[in-house]
This record gives sequence, structure tokens and C-alpha cells, in this order.
Amino acid sequence: MKKTRIGIVGVGPRGLTLIERLVANERARPSGPMEIVVFDPNAPGPGCHDPAQSDIHLVNTVAGQLTLFADASVVDAGPVMAGPSFHQWLAQQDALGAGALPAGERPSADGYYPRGLFGRYLQWVFRYVCALAPPSLEIVVRRSAVLRADRDDDAWVLQTAEAKIRVDYLFLTTGHTKPAPRREQAPSPCATLVVDDPYPVRASLAAIRPGMTVAVEGMGLTSFDVVAELTVGRGGRFVADAAAPAGLRYLRSGHEPRLAVFSRSGLPLGARAVNQKGVSSQYRARFLQLHRVREMRAARRLDFAADVMPLLLADMEHAWYDAWFRQHADAEAAAMFAGFDAPRRAAWIRGAVPDAERFSWQRLAAPVPHPALDGRDAFGGWLRAHLADDVAEARHGNLGSPVKAACDVLRDLRDNLRAAIEFGGLTEGSHRWVLAEFMPVMNRLAVGPPASRIAEMLALMDAGVLEADFGPGARCRAPDGGGFMRLCAAAWPDHGVKLHALVKARISMHGPQDDASPLLRGLLADGYVRPYRNGEFHPGGIEVDRQHRWVGRGGQAAHNAWALGIPTEGVKWCTFVVPRPGVNSTAIVDAGRAVTAMLAMIRGDAPASEPSGTRDAPAAQRLLTEAEASRFASLHGAL
Ligand SMILES: Cc1cc2nc3c(=O)[nH]c(=O)nc-3n(C[C@H](O)[C@H](O)[C@H](O)COP(=O)(O)OP(=O)(O)OC[C@H]3O[C@@H](n4cnc5c(N)ncnc54)[C@H](O)[C@@H]3O)c2cc1C
Repeated sequence: MKKTRIGIVGVGPRGLTLIERLVANERARPSGPMEIVVFDPNAPGPGCHDPAQSDIHLVNTVAGQLTLFADASVVDAGPVMAGPSFHQWLAQQDALGAGALPAGERPSADGYYPRGLFGRYLQWVFRYVCALAPPSLEIVVRRSAVLRADRDDDAWVLQTAEAKIRVDYLFLTTGHTKPAPRREQAPSPCATLVVDDPYPVRASLAAIRPGMTVAVEGMGLTSFDVVAELTVGRGGRFVADAAAPAGLRYLRSGHEPRLAVFSRSGLPLGARAVNQKGVSSQYRARFLQLHRVREMRAARRLDFAADVMPLLLADMEHAWYDAWFRQHADAEAAAMFAGFDAPRRAAWIRGAVPDAERFSWQRLAAPVPHPALDGRDAFGGWLRAHLADDVAEARHGNLGSPVKAACDVLRDLRDNLRAAIEFGGLTEGSHRWVLAEFMPVMNRLAVGPPASRIAEMLALMDAGVLEADFGPGARCRAPDGGGFMRLCAAAWPDHGVKLHALVKARISMHGPQDDASPLLRGLLADGYVRPYRNGEFHPGGIEVDRQHRWVGRGGQAAHNAWALGIPTEGVKWCTFVVPRPGVNSTAIVDAGRAVTAMLAMIRGDAPASEPSGTRDAPAAQRLLTEAEASRFASLHGAL
């Protein structure tokens, strides 16, 4: 029987999810001899979570909410194959005496752990799923980037620097790629060192020396990586100090530069609240329900602000007041309030909740009050109080704090938002608005760093290492006649600092046509794929149909080529989220459906009944158990 060959290009979390789905399916019902060739210049599994990076860089999701395995909650994505979440894996390693946490620290489902450790989990998952593959399924690793993909009859030929490999089915999961270097520009007279891409962090920032003044553009997750590298990465330490604003004090090493951080909003992402929802519990929509979104979409293309926002805000408001009554009333009254209908809730809110403590999207989206824009001192003072407040709210938890409970709704209802946005759900203008205006606010409110990062930012301000009092709209200006750039506040232009270095702390979300790898550019040039467009708007990525099959230049879908994850960010939305246990995670569902569609084709091609004895000995008898595979992966994996 002909062996089917499947190519997976890129094995970070997305490619890994495909392999997990393939192995789970083939264990349950083998489809004949099969070879999966996985291509990645790096070790398969970690993707952008480099296992070798310094432990100062943290994952921004609690360990219990990260997994690479399907579970009973996952709908229509194939059979379940048991496997540990990141937290369960940490606990298993701990029990084996191979724990990677500082001595004595027991892994917690609600802990935020180093990204390098998460990368080691992903490496382990790859070995584990390989160990569980049935004998009919061979997994071959090619440590090379794919440079081109070309049609050969019905198959694809993948070209690396060393070889050409023909595959019958092809999956593109190339994740975060780098943009092609910009064309040679006239030599800049500017003396400021500009770091366009801060990853890998240590190497990219190596040229930054103590005593330099360094602007960090962006106040999101990448910015926290940069700040960590240039402070604790340079030998500084945070120590507990009850008298400090958020309980932390920074002890300088003397090797850190002076940091000036700025962004369009002038505010960092909000602190992630202590998790009180366990692994899988989520806010359940009362207003922005999936069926309502689907009904609206069936009738017309949506205007996000008019159609979706009112329902979303109603859900946020609901979560806010449930938390407010939990915080301010006794348990019995809070439980009563949670069960009331809308008029009774409104009456209780009117009677009990002071104006300043009421839900206001306006205050969440644009929290800087007018007086804070009077000048640098006013803004600096307000910002410190705002950040200290944010840490305090985060410590009340994602159910206990009204503001954090409301903001967590944005994360919990991401699938409902996806249903509204993806596959051309919005009008062109509304799609532009969501990406330009709504997403930055959503990211700030809902997907920030662990609260410890905000406490550290305050401590760095107090230590005089970091300033962030540039307000909204600050800009770096290069001097016309040469010399050093200056970072200038927009609202108080007399405040500016001379910069020895500028670090652009953003992850590139360039389009496929600007990718550094020739692969995507070649696929576009050859018309095998096309950029996704909503009208005239190109929100990014290539176009795929609802089964994630590539859509070519003429609009036809390829029957044997799929793309998942970041290459499809544009037609899809929020593709960079790692699956969470127990919540029917989109990434697993998408992978499962693509794999199921492919297997249906393979099985359809196969003879209806296979003569007995032509296959390897009955697969089931030779399969490893999950426990054996776990032991194998732990012994031979990345402990
Ligand atoms: C610095 C950083 C920090 C992050 N932190 C978090 C976090 O804390 N929590 C969270 O939920 N998400 C985080 N993310 C989001 C991230 O998108 C996901 O965690 C996840 O890694 C996405 O998986 P992926 O497989 O799609 O992409 P990636 O992880 O980028 O993996 C893609 C893989 O494809 C390979 N590849 C690319 N091109 C080719 C080619 N031509 N040929 C062969 N192989 C190729 C790459 O080498 C890589 O191994 C972070 C992202 C970044 C960049």
C-alpha cells in the first residue's frame, strides 16, 4: 500500500497541535502507512518559546491554562489522547525529581513560569506524541527551513537548502516570522542605535551599555521582556519592601542603562489578575451569545461598534457588578444579586453603587483624566497612582475585583468575538476600526503581563532607572542635521530626552509579501495563495477558507494544502493564543478539523477493505500507553 507523506512546515505550538491530532486519530483508526515530515530549522516543539532563553522572561498565562492536548470539551476535532497541561507536566517533572523550579517551590496551576520552561514542555510534548505514534505512522524531522513549495501534479515539492521533498499533503504553520530587511536606505546621519527587532533579547540588546539612555517604544509584552533584560538581566534585583508602592524595591547593579518607555496611549498593559477561575471556568455570555452573533451574521455584515460592542459591554457590566456585590455585600446578598433579573439588578445598583464605582467603558478605554495632562509632574504622579491601583486590583483577582472581572470577559468571550470578526464578518470600515482602535484597548485591558511586572515597573521608577512620564502620543525625532534622536512628549514638548538607543519593542505583524523567508513570497508570486482582503483592506495574512485550505490567486481552494495560526491572521483573528484545557480551544478545533478532512481524503483513496496481513502487526497491540510514552519523553526529552 502506498505510503502517504504529509509535510508540516513550522513546528511551534501550532504545528505541534497538528501532530498531536494526527497521532490521536491514527492511534484510534490507522489510515495506512503514513510519514509526517516536519520541517523547522529549530528543534521541533518550542516555536518562538526558546528553551535556552533566560528564566527572567515569563509566560503571560497561568500554567494550568496552557496545554497542547485535546480533551473532552473539544468538539468535532477527533479522538482525545490524554496528555498533561503545562502545569501537570511541571508537577510530573517535580515528582520525578527533575523539577525546574527554584528549590522547594511546588508548581502551581496559577503560577506564571519562565517561557524557556514552557519551551521545554513543548519539546517534551513533541517527544511524547512521537512516542505514541502507531507503527504505521513515522515522524521524520528535517532541521531546515522550507524555502519554496511547488506543485508537482497533485503533490507538493518542498525545497530546503539541502533537498527537495515531495509530499501529498501540506500544512503551513510558520508562526512568527521576521520581515525582510528594508531596502538599502541612504545612510542615516543619526547617531542613535536603533534596534528594530529585540528578539533574541540578550543578543539583540548586547550593544546597550550602562549609562546609555534607551527609549523603549511600545509598552506591551515585548517591552516587559526588554526592560527585564536591561535590569535584572544586567544583575539588578527586586526585593520585597512593604513600604514601597507595590511592595517591591529595586536594587541597582550599576550595569543597567537609563530607560524611557513610551507608547501611543502612554500606558502599559494592565496587570493580569490573580486567577480565581481555576483551569477551565470562564465567564459565560449572557448577551454576546454565540447564537446571537450567528443570527446577526446570517442577516448582514456587522458593524462591530454598533452590533457587537453593546452586547459585549453588557456582559462586562454584568461581570463588574457581580464582583462589586461580592466585594461589598455579604455572600448571601451577593448570591441573591447574581440571580436577579435586569430590573432588580438595576435597582440595586442605583441604590448601592456610588457613581465613581460604576462600570464605565469610557473610563476603562481612556483612563487618563484631563488634569493629568497638565504637565509632566501631573502625569507622572497620576501614572504611579494608576499603576499601584492596578496592582492592587489584580491582587483582588479576576472574580473579586470589579474592574478585573469585567476585563477578563474580553478574554473569556474571545471565541464569540471571533465568530463576529472572522471570515469577513465585519464591514470593511468596521474591520479597520477593530484592528486600529479596539484591539489595542482590548490588549491593554485583558492580556497584560503578570501583576509582578507592573509592581516591578513602579519599583524601577522609584529607583530612577525607568521613566514613563511622556504621556500619550510621545514620539522619537531624528535630528535633520545628524546627531542623537530625542524622545519628546506630545502634550508637554519641553520634556524630551536625548537617546543613545531606541528599541522597537513590538512583534512584527508584517504581511506575507514582506516576509523574510522566500517561502511565503514565492507562494504569493506563484498564485498558490493570495493575501486576504476585506474589500480594499488587507488586515494581514493569506486567505484560507473555513476549512483552513489555501485560497489561490483565482479564488479556488487547494484541496491538499492548509494553513493555521499566524500566517492566517487577517481572515482569522487572535491566532496567537496557546490552547487552554476544558474550553474547546479554537486552535485545537481548527487543527482537528483540518486533519480530519485530510484523513477522510486519505481513507477515501485507500482500498475499501485491506487484505489482512499486509499491514504491520495490529497497531493497538504495539502502542505505548500514555504512561510509557511520558516516561520515554521524560528520559529522552528536555528535562
Ligand atoms: C516573544 C513572544 C512571547 C510570547 N509569549 C506568549 C505567552 O506568554 N503566552 C501566549 O499564550 N502566547 C505567547 N506568544 C504568542 C505565540 O504566538 C504563541 O504562544 C505560539 O508560539 C504561536 O505558535 P505558532 O506555532 O503559531 O508560532 P511560533 O511559535 O512562532 O512557531 C513557528 C515555527 O515555525 C518555524 N518556521 C517558520 N518559518 C519556517 C519555514 N519557512 N520552514 C520551516 N519552519 C519554519 C519557526 O522556526 C518556528 O519554530 C508569544 C509570542 C512571542 C513572539
